[in-house]
Amino acid sequence: MRAIAIVSLLTIMLFGYSAVTDERFTRWQADFRQAARAQGIRPDVLHTVFNGLLPNRKVLRLEAHQPEFTRAIWDYLEQTVSVERIAAGRQRLLQYRKLLDAVVAEYGVPREYLVAIWGMESSFGEHTGDYNIMRSLATLAYSGREPRRAFWSEQLLAGLHILQQGDVAPSDLRGSWAGALGHTQFMPTTLRDYAVDFDGDGRRDLKNSIPDALASTANYLVASGWQRGQRWGEAVTLPADFDWHLADPQVQKTAPQWAAHYAITQQQGAPLSGGEAASYILLPAGHRGPAFMVYPNFQVIRRYNNAVSYALAVGQLADRLRGEQVIASPWPKDEQALSHAERSELQELLSAVGYSTAGVDGKIGPNTRSALRRWQSAVGRPADGYATVEHLELLRRQAVLKTETEVE
Ligand code: CA
Repeated sequence: MRAIAIVSLLTIMLFGYSAVTDERFTRWQADFRQAARAQGIRPDVLHTVFNGLLPNRKVLRLEAHQPEFTRAIWDYLEQTVSVERIAAGRQRLLQYRKLLDAVVAEYGVPREYLVAIWGMESSFGEHTGDYNIMRSLATLAYSGREPRRAFWSEQLLAGLHILQQGDVAPSDLRGSWAGALGHTQFMPTTLRDYAVDFDGDGRRDLKNSIPDALASTANYLVASGWQRGQRWGEAVTLPADFDWHLADPQVQKTAPQWAAHYAITQQQGAPLSGGEAASYILLPAGHRGPAFMVYPNFQVIRRYNNAVSYALAVGQLADRLRGEQVIASPWPKDEQALSHAERSELQELLSAVGYSTAGVDGKIGPNTRSALRRWQSAVGRPADGYATVEHLELLRRQAVLKTETEVE
């Protein structure tokens, strides 16, 4: 009797929830459509997008997904800067030589970077995504994670503008689950603000036009501050007595200053290539791994995708496409990358033993790096601000000892 009651209650709850969700979505949609009308979106465009539209639960699952294990940067680079991708990129450089000549002449961004981004974003158009991006964006704007909903609403509105302008046909609004579109995976606001019609057919079509896609990428990089004649960065050799505190995005100096005061050179001894712009030393895997000097164009690439690993992959892929070898010290492949949960635990432990990380979010940002460096100095480790399993284990032991002492 009791079991049946519980089953009935569950059934009501489930069906009830579903009905409530649909009603809420309908209400949200009515509000959004009204706001879009106020922004000049025509009723027929709204009808095309919203008629019969339902939220896509898979998109919400993908948004909520927090990978248990983090891929080590060397594994990521091996997969993204693969022999196959380098060969495919070289083939595209030849195949689209005349087009790339024209794009480079207009924008001044080296062709190898454009082809590298094209390869990274969609494997040269092979994987552009098959999600209805308006459905994805509506779903995320309606019930994605709270702090991001305004972002998704803005993307959805930009998508409607693009559609209304006739840049993209409704059937071509297909892309990644998070709303990125075409060969170079532009988000709708990026497409709205930076895409260009390079083939002159009157539409900015990143889905079907390779000229539009490559020129739009170049235009976006230029608008983000691309510096002509500069590299992304390069592998460097640090002196034996190098102060690891200096390897930090917040410690910025010009290449001549790094060379004169800290005796830093390119890995094989050549002088640093960077000029007077601010540059910093990047240790993607801590002091045991390779060191890079990164220049302003590294930050420009990060406007495309903010991950350090992504920008490093684009830079190295571009180098390989220019025919350069990737020269860098070996990666510390014996180390296991910390998972999100382990990074959070590390933050809790650092704070517990007296080195506040100003919050626990599983991300190694400036506050955590600074706390970690101070702790590393105190325990006699190189203060590189890079978290390892060995650190986590030592911190666990320290935290236990501290608790025992406090109890006594
Ligand atoms: Ca076009």
